[in-house]
Amino acid sequence: MAKHTPMMEQYLRIKAEHKDAFLFFRLGDFYEMFFEDAIKASRELEITLTKRDGGQDEKIPMCGVPYHAAGNYIKNLVEKGYKVAICEQVEDPKTAKGVVKREVVQLITPGTVMESTMLSERNNNYIASLSHFQDGSFVVVYCDLSTGESRIAQINSGFDRVIHELYNQPIKEIVVSSNLSDELQTQLKDRLQVTLSYQDEVTFNGEYRAICENLNDERLVKAFSRLLNYVQFTQKRSLDHLKQAEIIELNAYLSLDMYSKRNLELTETILRKGRHGSLLWVLDKTVTAMGSRMLKKWLERPLLDKIQIENRLEAVEGFYHAFMERDSLRESLKSVYDLERLAGRIAFGNVNARDLIQLKKSLKKIPEIKDILASFDNNFIHQLADHLEYPSEIVDILETSIIDDPPISIKEGGIIKDGYHEQLDTYRYASRNGKKWIAELEQKEKQETNIKSLKIGYNRVFGYYIEVTKANLHLLPEGKYERKQTLTNAERFITPELKEKEQLILEAEEKSINLEYNLFSELREEIKSQIPRIQYLADIVSKIDVLQAFATVSEANNYKKPSFTDAKLKIKSGRHPVIEKVMDDGTFVPNDIMLDNEKSILLITGPNMSGKSTYMRQLALIAIMGQIGCFVPCDDAELIIFDQIFTRIGAADDLVSGQSTFMVEMLEANHAIANATERSLILLDEIGRGTSTYDGMALAQSIVEFIHDNIHAKTLFSTHYHELTALEESLPRLKNIHVRAEEYEGNVVFLHQIKDGAADKSYGIHVAKLANLPDELIKRASVILNQLESFDSGENQHMAIEETNQLSFFEEVVKLEKSKSKIGAEEESTILENLTDLDLFDMTPLEAMNELHRLQKLAKQKVITK
Ligand code: ADP
Ligand code: MG
Repeated sequence: MAKHTPMMEQYLRIKAEHKDAFLFFRLGDFYEMFFEDAIKASRELEITLTKRDGGQDEKIPMCGVPYHAAGNYIKNLVEKGYKVAICEQVEDPKTAKGVVKREVVQLITPGTVMESTMLSERNNNYIASLSHFQDGSFVVVYCDLSTGESRIAQINSGFDRVIHELYNQPIKEIVVSSNLSDELQTQLKDRLQVTLSYQDEVTFNGEYRAICENLNDERLVKAFSRLLNYVQFTQKRSLDHLKQAEIIELNAYLSLDMYSKRNLELTETILRKGRHGSLLWVLDKTVTAMGSRMLKKWLERPLLDKIQIENRLEAVEGFYHAFMERDSLRESLKSVYDLERLAGRIAFGNVNARDLIQLKKSLKKIPEIKDILASFDNNFIHQLADHLEYPSEIVDILETSIIDDPPISIKEGGIIKDGYHEQLDTYRYASRNGKKWIAELEQKEKQETNIKSLKIGYNRVFGYYIEVTKANLHLLPEGKYERKQTLTNAERFITPELKEKEQLILEAEEKSINLEYNLFSELREEIKSQIPRIQYLADIVSKIDVLQAFATVSEANNYKKPSFTDAKLKIKSGRHPVIEKVMDDGTFVPNDIMLDNEKSILLITGPNMSGKSTYMRQLALIAIMGQIGCFVPCDDAELIIFDQIFTRIGAADDLVSGQSTFMVEMLEANHAIANATERSLILLDEIGRGTSTYDGMALAQSIVEFIHDNIHAKTLFSTHYHELTALEESLPRLKNIHVRAEEYEGNVVFLHQIKDGAADKSYGIHVAKLANLPDELIKRASVILNQLESFDSGENQHMAIEETNQLSFFEEVVKLEKSKSKIGAEEESTILENLTDLDLFDMTPLEAMNELHRLQKLAKQKVITK
């Protein structure tokens, strides 16, 4: 077999070190990909696949993208979760002996992108690492390279807690050891939808000593190092803007498991996965991208400390009551660019002069913002102002060095102000002087030759030249001019004296461009040393922005400042912050709620679509809003500080997860029961629906009893099992409430009002009617219902339920199976075909019941006709 060409050997050697990435191999003006990479990339990027002779019999699949347009292709791949290794020529091809030396200079992965075009402004972009220790504990670290922030948390309570912690965070990539068990790796990939990367060798990097200083535990250092090692490996440089990892004491925050994060739609909706329709969507009245990112972080970690919560609320109140000042604050904040990410780019070394001008303009706003904050009559706001320290040195140095409207490129000069650097001024003087000399020469030549149209021009190939039209050529004296280029109606000449000056000018220009580049790099380094100050400012500005946003949204939607007590929760005319916004016509019906130690469980009954789920979620959202320090949608609120919130949604409502099995529902219920304390809030929404009536009801009842007797958590429990309302008699802390609905001319009218006591009817059939099910079907259902209701009470009723509608599908199928033996093969296959063709997820329970009924009838007939 023939050998590969030397270049292909180089390629294969480098590729072997980057097996899990697309290797972008620089060849002249292109990045080329070969072999499998090429085949996959041509498909993913829709670019043409070609072949290249690599020295072997068979040609090598190849595809490529132009170097200058690579950004978009890289972005495309990284967004799909792939990694891209950028391999550059690291020596000058002109002077290289043999194959040009090439090296991977950066590995771009979903979690390590730094380019602003690949990042979403209002979202963090995290890379995480997970380390699993011998004693069973886990340490998770997550870090946003674009902003430099990291968080680190130790988790001793099992892998599920890890998933709950990481769920819903904007994490794109998780670095693990390849020793992590396959099962856990699969769970990470499947449940969090992230790219997994591996870093087995973990060594402490001394350059990062300072940011590890606060880590008081070997394991934390090791886990952080895993991440830092990987960052070093991918970025091939140390990053100076990484901040000390913030150690997160998970117990210091209201904990929301992944189910609650999802069900409550805090930052994205379940169905569309978008911001629109989430709580974040309502609350995000921030004006800076930094503020928006911070708000999201607050929302994911509501506070437990009363003092901290109240401090935020006080500041919000200050902003709330001073509309004019708040408005001018918002205006000022608008001119503050993304300081956090600017700092990141400065550290990474990819800022340009325009970025630094943005930095300057943003910093110059600080005194103004301080002044505005001082004008509020509020101590908490004044304290925020005190933390804003105007970094005048940074502003001064940028003010004197960089022109106000610099070009994007930092390699073509035109960035640095005159007077900033003496040598630069000299070069510029020489170049400008030379140009002046050329202008004078033009005048002189015109006069001497008497050619009015004579002109001196410049192009890249010939440099400066004297141009004379053909008609005037005879006027030129012999000897002095050397012909360089002939055009259709003019000739271009040079003279020794012109070339001499040209040399001087070009030299001065080249030198000044190089010098400018060096000066710019120096400036960047100097600013780099100020990054911590910039980051601190960014942090305070973000906080101010979030607090003013809370005030803005609270005023716009008429939210009220909550107070906090220890045992009693009382909300007057509470509203669901998102639904009232979505309805947007003022027709949302407010409702009160009251929970205390005497009545800690509310059992909610009421027809479908009446507002049970809304009422329950409303409470959770109000609690969370209060604990992040925002006002809440109601007329008056006394809240309890909850330590955890659990939400379980019955199978019927859990359309999205695709795993609406009863088992999952029970696992979730168990999770709540195992972790809740008397300071927790539990929402159980129609639990027990995923199984047959008796099963479901029995479990629902025993869950309520268990919570009542053993956990004492504040609990809202909605159910369609009417029978459960009897629990009020046996469980002293349980209280029945219901959502009122009225029947009007055979239709049900939802009033969405919560009242004491149990609901008396289920109204399910009316809802079916609203959903436009066929009249005939509705009539039939009413007949069945009447029959059921006429079996008055006790055993008869249960029997009736059993007979008419409580046979599970499973039982039906078993029956069908049993009767099979009696049916002929042909009929059997028709029935089975019908059965397999059913699209259960597209049918209502009633439709399904009808179809089964039909099939069963068919089966019975066949048996008879046999
Ligand atoms: P349930 O859980 O009882 O089936 P939902 O809580 O899902 O009912 O509410 C169904 C619909 O009723 C909601 O989508 C909303 O449009 C409306 N709704 C619920 N509560 C209210 C309310 N308090 N005021 C106005 N409309 C409401
Ligand atoms: Mg519901």
